[in-house]
Amino acid sequence: MSESAKKIFKKGDILLREGEPGNSAYVIESGSVEILIQRDGALIQIGTRGAGSLIGEMAMIDDKPRTATIRAIEDCHVMEITREEFSRRVDSADPILKMMMRVIMARYRDVISRSQFLPPAAHAGMTAENAENSDEHHELAVKTIKIHHELKAALAKNELVLYYQPIISMQDMKISGFEALMRWKHPEKGLISPGVFIPVAEESGLIVELSRWALGVSCDALKDIHQAASQKLVGSHPIFISVNFSVKDFSTGNFFDQIQSTLRDKGIDPAHIHLEITESLLMEAPGPAKEALEKCRKFGTSVSIDDFGTGYSSLSYLHYFPIDTLKVDQSFIRSMSKDPSNRLLVKSIIGLAHSLNMKVIAEGIETREEAVILKELGCEECQGYWFAKPMPLEDALKFVQNWQPPQIA
Ligand code: C2E
Ligand code: CA
Ligand code: CA
Repeated sequence: MSESAKKIFKKGDILLREGEPGNSAYVIESGSVEILIQRDGALIQIGTRGAGSLIGEMAMIDDKPRTATIRAIEDCHVMEITREEFSRRVDSADPILKMMMRVIMARYRDVISRSQFLPPAAHAGMTAENAENSDEHHELAVKTIKIHHELKAALAKNELVLYYQPIISMQDMKISGFEALMRWKHPEKGLISPGVFIPVAEESGLIVELSRWALGVSCDALKDIHQAASQKLVGSHPIFISVNFSVKDFSTGNFFDQIQSTLRDKGIDPAHIHLEITESLLMEAPGPAKEALEKCRKFGTSVSIDDFGTGYSSLSYLHYFPIDTLKVDQSFIRSMSKDPSNRLLVKSIIGLAHSLNMKVIAEGIETREEAVILKELGCEECQGYWFAKPMPLEDALKFVQNWQPPQIA
């Protein structure tokens, strides 16, 4: 803990005060302190701590107000651990470990709040609240750990599959790419949607393994798709595959190396792989994401912003990140169909993208009318059930071979 500052407290000084937020913890190097709590307006000593003890860590770990006051009984030399320093360590810790830490803290506080030292009123209030928190943390942690293990096993047992949804070029109505979308073929529960398991994988950190797997499988699929397309001139450019990534993928520190080595091993041209990430996820770790995405872009892969318009209010990030494509969220397409005045909104998004030299892919096209409007508005590519639903690779290959560009304008 190189940045930890040394501090000296004189006899009688307050080191930490009950009710205040936990902005720091201390390791006592010399001297001793007493732990005090309020009871009937008076401070009561419930314990003492000497050299070598750690104090004030609880409020810092679980973000709750301090439950006791710490006062120096004699002059004390301490080493301070700041919240920033602590948070950095927690952020880089294993997600399951973090979750367990929260459960343990909730239980610990529950036990303390039941202890005889607390005043009856505080005792009653804290017990109910803490017990609830404890249950909540416990339930969430157990559920996440359970799905995490099942998912990990599912990956090993080949129960995870990728479905592919075509992305159509509006200029010539040919297939320009496919988006790879994950499914879990559960032996009992059937096909499980990514909306159920991706959030758990993100929370537990397993997403990094899933993303790596998805990229490898997508590369293999791309070779098959290119082969199917070669038997028929499908598009003006070779078909690309778009793979979804999560912000956790960037925090591993070797995101780019992974992309580079996978594509090289598989013999895939980086220009045929698009990386998709949602704007709200990007904003969770802008620094690492920018660095990783810039390297990927230099290497030749395209970067798409997924669900554009749903997550973040400021547009300044569009300049900050290296972005090739905006994927307009399907909610805009839906609202455009319901009320023609919303067309203006979609038109403005397309205009904004073009002025920043970005392409637009509209998501969730369900009717011919929507496709016609989007073509008129200058949207480059469209994706949605009207063209095709996501499908297994086998069907995607047939789709490529049988595709007849519809006449829409
Ligand atoms: P997304 O990336 O926005 O993917 C598009 C979702 O919209 C897909 O749902 C797709 O089936 C659905 N969709 C496409 N066209 C239409 C349409 O015309 N109408 C309607 N109503 N829906 C349409 P899906 O496959 O259930 O995926 C849901 C989300 O799960 C994805 O949203 C993405 O955020 C996440 N996801 C899926 N696969 C992966 C993955 O491999 N990695 C990561 N990190 N996330 C994934
Ligand atoms: Ca996506
Ligand atoms: Ca999307």
